[in-house]
Amino acid sequence: MNRHTATLSALALGLPLLLAGCATTDTTPSASPSPSASAPTGAAAWSYSGATDPGHWGDVSATCATGTAQSPININTADLNREPAQAPEIHYQASIFEVENNGHTIEAAPANHTDNYVVINGTQYFLQQFHLHTTSEHTIDGKHADLELHLVNKSADGAVAVLGVLFNAGEANQALAGLFDSMPKYVSADDHPEPIPGTLNPADLFPAGSEVLEYEGSLTTPPCTEGVHWNVYQTPGAISAEQLSAFQALYPKNARPVQDLDGRSVNEVPAS
Ligand SMILES: [Zn+2]
Repeated sequence: MNRHTATLSALALGLPLLLAGCATTDTTPSASPSPSASAPTGAAAWSYSGATDPGHWGDVSATCATGTAQSPININTADLNREPAQAPEIHYQASIFEVENNGHTIEAAPANHTDNYVVINGTQYFLQQFHLHTTSEHTIDGKHADLELHLVNKSADGAVAVLGVLFNAGEANQALAGLFDSMPKYVSADDHPEPIPGTLNPADLFPAGSEVLEYEGSLTTPPCTEGVHWNVYQTPGAISAEQLSAFQALYPKNARPVQDLDGRSVNEVPAS
């Protein structure tokens, strides 16, 4: 992320809408929090089972245990706020991606971090990476989907917006075929991602006409940092049983349990 900061700031300076936000917060170091970032060298390990499971993540980062706006959550469709709000404007395009196995998930990052972005309430967020969880992390009316894909986007001043897309086993997913065919079996210990053959268009991952469930939450992995703008697409997409089991062969279960709402509400945003 650091090597891209100058580029992102330069882009932001050309956009009057972003000037106010950048003027006050652009000096924040780019720690690049990511829902599935590997733990820094020397940091305590964390996992999804055993002695370092989610019940112990507070030992890695206190926020995981004491936070009051944590993710994921269960979303009750009977309790949604129906105030007017805007769905994210998706500006993703066919791009070259590189994939790695980071020890917690399979993660794909665009080779060029300025190729893909979303606009939410006038702020531009650039796609940093996307990655997978099974089962889904968010539940809707108490039900898990088979898989949840997180597209992690970051603004020039460091704000994070994650788009979550749910998938159930069904037809094969062509948009993700290149990813499922390229998943490294072993952890990429030396941080060497491998290119996915051809291009992948993240815009093709969104179910047509899906409403968006929007709320304020956190990273779903340590350090569980809050202030993450979540947009969960309500309609699940499909992946084949073979695609699902290819991922589950590497990560049988890598989903944090749902967290307390702590008084938060979820907005229902009509499809754009
Ligand atoms: Zn995630």
